[in-house]
Amino acid sequence: MSSYNSAAIEEFKGGVWVFCEQRQGTMMSTSFELISEGRKLADELGSKLYGVLLGDNVEGLAKELGGYGADGVYVCQDALLKDYTTGGYTKAICDLVHEYKPEVLLIGATNIGRDLGPRLAARLHTGLCADCTHLDIDVPKYKDFLRASSTLAPAAIDSIKEGDRNLKMTRPAFGGHLMATIICPRFRPAMATVRPGVMKKAAFDQAKADACEIIKPNFTLTADDVQTEVVEVVKAAKKMVDLIGADVVVSVGRGISKDVETGIKLAEELAEVLGGVVGASRAVVDSGWMSADHQVGQTGKTVHPKIYVALGISGAIQHKAGMQDSECIIAVNKNETAPIFEIADYGICGDLFKVVPQLIEAIKAA
Ligand code: FAD
Repeated sequence: MSSYNSAAIEEFKGGVWVFCEQRQGTMMSTSFELISEGRKLADELGSKLYGVLLGDNVEGLAKELGGYGADGVYVCQDALLKDYTTGGYTKAICDLVHEYKPEVLLIGATNIGRDLGPRLAARLHTGLCADCTHLDIDVPKYKDFLRASSTLAPAAIDSIKEGDRNLKMTRPAFGGHLMATIICPRFRPAMATVRPGVMKKAAFDQAKADACEIIKPNFTLTADDVQTEVVEVVKAAKKMVDLIGADVVVSVGRGISKDVETGIKLAEELAEVLGGVVGASRAVVDSGWMSADHQVGQTGKTVHPKIYVALGISGAIQHKAGMQDSECIIAVNKNETAPIFEIADYGICGDLFKVVPQLIEAIKAA
């Protein structure tokens, strides 16, 4: 175990790293999103971008990460890493961090990432900004800021080099009413977990994939490090809705309450004729009308489809947080002052139970 302070952060020039999550040999799409975002950060820092890939027999997945911008991929393969375990993955990644000293370490805020990130940060004695929605590189005048607002000793603040570039991490706070921007100037690596679906995946480049370096680092792992055993991986019997990858999302809100069954059926029909999937506001999920994997918003999924249709959704800030970057927003609401109309490209003021059948008919006839 080791800890780093401002004097030691100079050593952390090992580039920007992305933990690339795979499950049963399939790369999670958030890994490609984070590699694409990491490329921009690495370019701004003037450093290299590396993926970190753990598993058993996963080397074949590494080159694809290069196609989205990775200069290289650290591939750690071991039978003990076949399935994710907190202890095994933490130990292997800590070994790599001690050896190669990355400036930045990004992790998808998936179930696994939300477990791994805090454990790594604690073990590495660094900070972690969880559930980020925006990342940037900042050259802050943060000494003045720290003097005014923190309890750090003046000597500690003086030891920070003005002009150092830091990862600037933004995440919703206070129920989404505030966007908090956080920097971690005194510890490395700067760590963030990032919400899946928020960062855009770059176009794949085969030449870059071919050029991507595969690095097989040293790490030691014993059964004692792993501590837990995955006995069986049971896939959910129900097919989960793929909101994040969909080009068209038709979401329903509490506006369907007078006839929930018909409201959902209408949304499904509209989604079908538009070639999309059905999403929901939290009000719908909390009421038990649809399952949680349909929820769009701050505590649901973040989507940016080509078309987002909001049916009977008021447009609360927490809902907008998950869909406002959609290319085209169409809202149907019977209240002309509903906030959803403020961000809608097309607004229809009317009863969804009357409007949606007409929309379906018109699309079918077109
Ligand atoms: P309402 O706000 O009740 O709006 C219903 C709308 O339907 C109204 O505008 C009404 O005019 C319209 N309507 C009614 N009948 C009809 C009809 N027949 N035809 C057309 N329009 C009609 N919410 C999310 O969605 N996602 C999240 O991830 C999320 N996370 C949250 C996290 C926190 C910490 C908190 C505090 C809240 C969160 N919420 C989230 C809840 C959010 O604040 C709102 O309560 C929720 O989005 C409201 O859902 P709604 O728009 O469906 O319902």
